[in-house]
Amino acid sequence: MADYDYDLFVIGGGSGGVRAARVAAGDVGARVALAEEDRYGGTCVIRGCVPKKLMVFSSEFSKMPSLGRGYGWDIQDGSFDWSVFCGHMNEELDRLEGIYRSLLKNSGVDTFDARARLKDAHTIELSNGETRTAKTILIASGGHPVRPDIPNAHLGIVSDDIFHLEALPKSILIVGGGYIACEFACILNGLGVEVTQYYRGAQILRGFDDEARGLIAESMREQGIDLKLGTNIVEMAPASADHSASAATATDAAMGATAQQSVELGSSAKGAQGPVWVKPTSGAPREFDVVLFATGRDPNSRDLGLEDLGIEIGRRGEIIVDEFSKTGADSVYAIGDVTNRVNLTPVAIREGMAFVETVFKDNPTAVDHELIPSAVFTQPEMGTVGLSEEDAREKEEIEVYCTSFRPMRTAFAGQPDRVLMKLVVSKVNRTVLGCHIVAPDAGEMIQLAGIAIKMGATKEDFDRTVAVHPTMSEEIVTMKTPMRTA
Ligand code: NDP
Repeated sequence: MADYDYDLFVIGGGSGGVRAARVAAGDVGARVALAEEDRYGGTCVIRGCVPKKLMVFSSEFSKMPSLGRGYGWDIQDGSFDWSVFCGHMNEELDRLEGIYRSLLKNSGVDTFDARARLKDAHTIELSNGETRTAKTILIASGGHPVRPDIPNAHLGIVSDDIFHLEALPKSILIVGGGYIACEFACILNGLGVEVTQYYRGAQILRGFDDEARGLIAESMREQGIDLKLGTNIVEMAPASADHSASAATATDAAMGATAQQSVELGSSAKGAQGPVWVKPTSGAPREFDVVLFATGRDPNSRDLGLEDLGIEIGRRGEIIVDEFSKTGADSVYAIGDVTNRVNLTPVAIREGMAFVETVFKDNPTAVDHELIPSAVFTQPEMGTVGLSEEDAREKEEIEVYCTSFRPMRTAFAGQPDRVLMKLVVSKVNRTVLGCHIVAPDAGEMIQLAGIAIKMGATKEDFDRTVAVHPTMSEEIVTMKTPMRTA
């Protein structure tokens, strides 16, 4: 038997790679190494879920003063300081990166701060010139945001860049209608930036339940986001020189400023390329201080040396794997966003754990990609699990239980917010096929509803559960009559 340096070499120090490495080393006692060319923690910790959620929390404070006043508090609008927030955020990211590094170290994993590529199915070449061999190689190299193929697209920023802006812009155009576009539209609007969003399709958040998408779009507009559907960029160019004076910081933006309210202007939005002139598919050309492309992410599969090993790569660059995350080469596996299956952190972690079971514990474990609960951190949030009404209709006869109302907390303060609670139920066997919630903290709610739905709960199981009163989510167990059948 060949004598390898390691039992396992992991390429990529994000959530999936780190979990697989430390479980294989710590629990199984395998000899493991991991290479990461950037910061440990990957997209989720360094330039995705974690800093994004901190920004969501930060932006939500803009609504607090008016809500507080509705409850009798004498609270005045304050001001938001982007540099203070970023300072705290960066300290937190440093702390988390340190935890990731020490988890690996404490599990006995050797780490290389270098880029890795495969020389052959058992040999890894590192950018520092070293070479290592391993019995098994796991690719967990993640993905990266992409710009559309239009002239001057480099003038726009992508989600990675948001966290490095030295100042917030006065105005931003966000292109796209997916998770990232909608989340950042809400975040930046809450922080006082004038937000325009172009989405090329008929409604944002394609693939989610239509009713939920409609309510989110309506709420975003109500909060001041200029959402333009059926619109895309045709052309972009640097804005005229005299425009650049208007590049601004929202550092002094009044808390609670809506997109329409003016903000005090300061230094330019450093980190971006300067103001941009944009010609849309409909309407007059406009200028924005920053253009953010949130037009999807592609897998990081290039320059890994895979093609020569007979490993199949898909149209978007995804590494093709079987149900056990094995590639076309027997000793090479891939997990997480680089495989473009379900691009969510907890899924990558699951795939990493299943890989360890399969390869190191002699327990072949396929990853279960069914009924994955998820949340979109718009304001209000959406929590969802299972089939949308539209997808369920295609499969079988259904009943739809649905209610939309003004929740007590904000209605009391005279605010117009609405929430949505929806169950899609099989008429054939009464199973709840889908649950869709649009409400503050919907992500927290759907985690729990997801357990019941994953267990195969029927509508009658929901009905038998006593309501928690007074809450928004009690409606999930009190809807008695179907809104419609199909
Ligand atoms: P998505 O694939 O969700 O959305 C991409 C958006 O860009 C779509 O609206 C798409 O339109 C549009 N688009 C694509 N190409 C073009 C183009 N050439 N011109 C104009 N518009 C275009 O990608 P995101 O970048 O938002 O997110 C990537 C992934 O990251 C998500 O799918 C998700 O898995 C993950 N993620 C999860 C989060 C969470 O769990 N809360 C948060 C953020 C990201 P169309 O609909 O017409 O294709």
